[in-house]
Amino acid sequence: MTLAAYTPRSLPESLSGLFQLALDLRWTWHHGTDELWRALDSDIWDTTRNAWLVLNSVSGERLEELAADPDFQQRYREQIHAHQAFTEADTWYSTDCRGDLGEGVAYFCMEYGLSESLPLYSGGLGVLAGDFLKASSDLGAPVMAVGLLYQQGYFRQAISTDGEQLEFYPYNDPTMLPVSPLRDADDQWVRVIVPFPGRHVRLRAWKAQVGRCELLLLDSNDPRNEPGDRGITSELYTGDPEKRLQQEMVLGIGGWRLLEQLGRSPSLCHLNEGHCALALIERAFSWQDDHESDFQTARTATRATNLFTTHTSVASGFDHFSRSLLRLYLTPWLEGRDLNVDQLLALGSQPSSPDNQSTDLKLNMALLALNMSGRFNGVSRIHQKVTQTIFQPFFPRWPAEDIPADYVTNGIHTPSWDSPESDAIWTRACGKDRWRRPLQSTCPMTDIADEELWEMRRLERARLITYLRRRLASQHCEQNPGNNHEAACGLLLDHETLTLGFARRFTEYKRPDLLLKDEERLLKLLASRDRPIQIVLAGKAHPYDLPGKDIIRRWKAFSRRPDVEGKVVFIEDYDLGVANQLIQGVDVWLNCPRHPWEACGTSGMKVLVNGGLNLSQYDGWWAEAWNPDVGWAIRPGATFDELSGSNNHDHDLSDMEQLFDLLENEVIPGFYDVDSEGIPRKWVGRMRASMDQLTAAYSANRMVREYVEQFYLPMAEMGSRRSSETARELIGEYGEISRHWSRLRFNSFNTSEDSGSQTFTVEVYLDGIDEQRIAVELVAEDSEHGPRTITAMQMKHPLGGSPHTYLYECTVPPRPEGHYTPRLRVRDERLNLPLENPAILWLR
Ligand SMILES: *Cc1c(COP(=O)(O)O)cnc(C)c1O
Repeated sequence: MTLAAYTPRSLPESLSGLFQLALDLRWTWHHGTDELWRALDSDIWDTTRNAWLVLNSVSGERLEELAADPDFQQRYREQIHAHQAFTEADTWYSTDCRGDLGEGVAYFCMEYGLSESLPLYSGGLGVLAGDFLKASSDLGAPVMAVGLLYQQGYFRQAISTDGEQLEFYPYNDPTMLPVSPLRDADDQWVRVIVPFPGRHVRLRAWKAQVGRCELLLLDSNDPRNEPGDRGITSELYTGDPEKRLQQEMVLGIGGWRLLEQLGRSPSLCHLNEGHCALALIERAFSWQDDHESDFQTARTATRATNLFTTHTSVASGFDHFSRSLLRLYLTPWLEGRDLNVDQLLALGSQPSSPDNQSTDLKLNMALLALNMSGRFNGVSRIHQKVTQTIFQPFFPRWPAEDIPADYVTNGIHTPSWDSPESDAIWTRACGKDRWRRPLQSTCPMTDIADEELWEMRRLERARLITYLRRRLASQHCEQNPGNNHEAACGLLLDHETLTLGFARRFTEYKRPDLLLKDEERLLKLLASRDRPIQIVLAGKAHPYDLPGKDIIRRWKAFSRRPDVEGKVVFIEDYDLGVANQLIQGVDVWLNCPRHPWEACGTSGMKVLVNGGLNLSQYDGWWAEAWNPDVGWAIRPGATFDELSGSNNHDHDLSDMEQLFDLLENEVIPGFYDVDSEGIPRKWVGRMRASMDQLTAAYSANRMVREYVEQFYLPMAEMGSRRSSETARELIGEYGEISRHWSRLRFNSFNTSEDSGSQTFTVEVYLDGIDEQRIAVELVAEDSEHGPRTITAMQMKHPLGGSPHTYLYECTVPPRPEGHYTPRLRVRDERLNLPLENPAILWLR
């Protein structure tokens, strides 16, 4: 039995296509239909940006009126045709992409930021997942996403009169969100069941259409569930580990079951963070059922096509669950399976950890994801190194440099972040639909005159100021008349003043208070008569992050000083809507996290298309993107190695100094250095360079293509060679190898020097393992004698007199004694190594 889903309102026959338009979130970036929604109800559209809500709220009378309006009918038909053409058009994937992803990729994430009207996200991770989906739609990449439909989501922020962050959890009526109940072939509302202790939790399934892609959502608010269970999907990121585990079960287990129930069989599974690792276990179970095999075979067969992306910069950032909690919650699910709670724990806890003996062994969800995956990656070049360091303990005896973490630098969905003004300019430079094809740096801004670029910038800034005044009037004037009512309500901010933006999570490592560390110096910049600056701030602090909340309080207090009021403004409730406005209007985007804590950072990428410039810590994406022509970097050239040992706070003061120096000596003078026509030529040159060099490179368009070409396609290829027979063979062979492994040894290691080169030979005892399966390598670490090298040693011949012993040799440039060390490890084209078998033996 299913409970009947609601039926949406009825529409005049001639406008029935509006349903389809309103339920396709393409309207969040493609603004062709904006005028239709505005015609239906401009008030609701302008305040909520929710086309579905507009459609469900507009009066019947208004609908009849528009149905009879030939002008509206005309525009409506154009949009219906445009939508039709969009769904049928060829895409990059359908025409240019060689390879086969079968039924596509299942993408799992705890949060999705697609629109302020669908509040299923808290911050960067969700916005990235949303942009990923939108770009997948543009490119035609076959991605089906799975997530949770939160009734309340992340908290909404207001600031009290004394600067205190207030947290609210308004209820989101799912029938008013731009999603629809997911129906099966018999038109029944799809329900998924996940076993919980002593009960079953029923999940309702929903669908959000994101252009060509679908986001499938689950929620637990089924009236037949226990009251507590109905609340599992109420809030996002509460601190309670029990609720977190429940959510991760619903997402991972329920999510995979949903795909199964719908008859989808994705070729790959991509986890965006480890929260959803249980999906990989459920995937293996379902493979097991189809192939009548054991869990180990299923794991070996499926993991080649599981990809795990991590965005975390500290090991403590991963979810951990205690054995007792897992026992309670996972036992009903694992019943009848050949995997018990302890075996599952072993897949996600450190083998050599001293904790292992103790009873409070914990399941690390990132490690579970890793042990169920074929590849894994970080999200920027520096973050690759961070990831290697974090995961090194899970690869005993492997140096961090050899940990097989790849990286794909994040990107943003350009069409979601451009302004109407920049859209017009880019359309002239590169044509319509430019974001739907692979973007190269081949559509330069060179044909666009300085005057036009500067005019774009001025219009963008002016629109931001208008928006901010309106927004501040509701949040500021009423609650806090401040010292000067006029300044607060009317004359806040200035159209021609250099505008800096800083918006992100307020948490210590992002150092949102770096400018506040020298208030006097900041005051001088704000008060300058002929070269002033103004600052727009926004951001939430996690409800338990007291230092973060304190920084908000301090900024709020600072912004109320009589000499500051109207020049520094704090916009409440940072969300996609606020972000969109700030991104379009600011001249300079400021970001100053502690290095190397910013895994990537994406907000700065969003200003590129609009001609905004970045002043940012040399960290995450900016360490890859920065050069002196495109913007400013704090501590340029900082390397991870140099910093990994240093104290977190060591650089705070010197970074603050550099930030002020850059503002005082470069940014501010540059902005106000105008020629006789009133144009700051050098500044505009920077805008042009930044737009040209960086927009395409830091787009989700580039990111999705990298995932498809460098991960999905080769992984699918390897997966197609992992039949159940191969999986069984691999398990048999590697069981055998591990039985021999402890007896492997090096017998002798010799070197001879010869005019500018050094030849090494080593005898290796393999205890009967096929020497084809073993790689012998000579390793030299980075030193003043040269960079780190790994040289393959060649097998010369077996040693006649000693069974299972082989002689290996190689020739390398000379280094002092002791600098070269041989090691041996597994070699096998059929496996992803060393992830799937980290066995290694060093001579010393
Ligand atoms: C882009 C974005 C973020 C992420 O910004 P970071 O610079 O990566 O911290 C967070 N929240 C919102 C609303 C965003 O639009």
